[in-house]
Amino acid sequence: MAEKYNPFDNVLAAVDNAASILGYKEKEYAALKHPERELKVSIPMVMDDGNVRVFDAYRVQHSTSRGPAKGGIRFHQNVNQDEVKALAAWMSFKCAVVNVPYGGGKGGVVVQPNELSEHELHELTRKYTTAIAPIIGPEEDIPAPDVGTTPQIMAWFMDTYSSLQGHSVLNCVTGKPIGLGGILGRGDATGRGVMITVKNILNKMNKPLQGAKVAIQGMGNVGSATARFLSAEGMKVVAVSDVSCGLYKADGLNIPAILEYLSKDRKNLLKDYTEEGAKIIDNGELLETEVDVLIPAAMENMINEDNADRIKAPVIVEAANGPVTKEADEILEKMGITVVPDILANAGGVVVSYFEWVQNTQAFCWTEDQVIYQLKSMMDDAFESVWSIAKDNNVTLRTGAYLIAVKRVVEAQNGRGLYV
Ligand code: NAD
Repeated sequence: MAEKYNPFDNVLAAVDNAASILGYKEKEYAALKHPERELKVSIPMVMDDGNVRVFDAYRVQHSTSRGPAKGGIRFHQNVNQDEVKALAAWMSFKCAVVNVPYGGGKGGVVVQPNELSEHELHELTRKYTTAIAPIIGPEEDIPAPDVGTTPQIMAWFMDTYSSLQGHSVLNCVTGKPIGLGGILGRGDATGRGVMITVKNILNKMNKPLQGAKVAIQGMGNVGSATARFLSAEGMKVVAVSDVSCGLYKADGLNIPAILEYLSKDRKNLLKDYTEEGAKIIDNGELLETEVDVLIPAAMENMINEDNADRIKAPVIVEAANGPVTKEADEILEKMGITVVPDILANAGGVVVSYFEWVQNTQAFCWTEDQVIYQLKSMMDDAFESVWSIAKDNNVTLRTGAYLIAVKRVVEAQNGRGLYV
């Protein structure tokens, strides 16, 4: 997928579209189309078997106009510079939509983490941290978890950065374990935000939540929490998948049992899970299932020009970043399918990461109730703003979200002035 579709093109198309509706001249927003800083590093490592492997890795800061760059670190075999650029830009616009005082950044290491031993993963994390340390920091650029990375990896990251500074710097990274400055509720914050978004969109469209059928692609951090929250809210999760396969059961899968199985071992995959009445499907079939809400929660470009016309769900909520290509977006719009965009739908993670950074910076701990209350309030406000601007301009929710985001980033950038 990564070769056929360049996700950074998706970002540029969305930015151009919003800028033209906002009436901006090219010179007013040209800088947004280029990341401020791109760092590429090579990480040589002695593996457990004595061989040396060299890993390619990146950190990209798309914009720091609204505050320090903020965005996760991805450990995945398909990571490449264009993908990291796109993910960094999406972070700038996501932070702007939910109005947290950050710009956007992202990092990635080209590696299949499941193939590494715990010791190798630890070592790779420390070497990556050291390699990008010159450009990160609590006031410069604050990483977090993304695909393939975990709270434990954030703990190693924080410890390495702290060692380089000579003292503990808890606010250099978010998504840490609770005992190391992590905030209650961060682990499932993105999924909780997706659940809030699903409720908001169904409510606006006057559709019932109880018993509504949902399919979720990807059962990692985001997909698992989304499945748990939505089934607890009374939705019927009829299909889920991971990289190995999909599972389908017409009267709803046993989500607690699936989550228990997946949490037992980070290498557990759905292909080895069994449940009476559940049948194995492939990831393509999952996307084309007849459901009320489809939630892609895996990787970019999953819904594209090759399969968009076979989507049957009337509503798609983008829990992953960039799961729908720009070509697919046009097809879905013509089919009357409502897409709630990633920069709104999956913003719960960065909102709670912001609370974690505030908690560490102030050295004052938040309760889980405070986190949940503030998250819901910020997600609801952002949803309402996006919904209203989209209706007022008769545009899609994606364009609505970019109208808000691009305006906020351009105003910040031009308010500072381009330094000449
Ligand atoms: P993760 O590594 O925890 O899980 C990824 C899941 O996707 C796994 O179940 C994996 O098996 C599955 N997967 C990978 N490739 C697949 C494929 N080709 N087909 C089907 N399934 C596949 O990652 P995550 O943190 O849950 O992130 C998922 C998405 O959500 C990514 O797009 C990420 O950028 C986005 N996101 C994550 C967060 C966060 O807080 N972790 C926040 C916002 C957005």
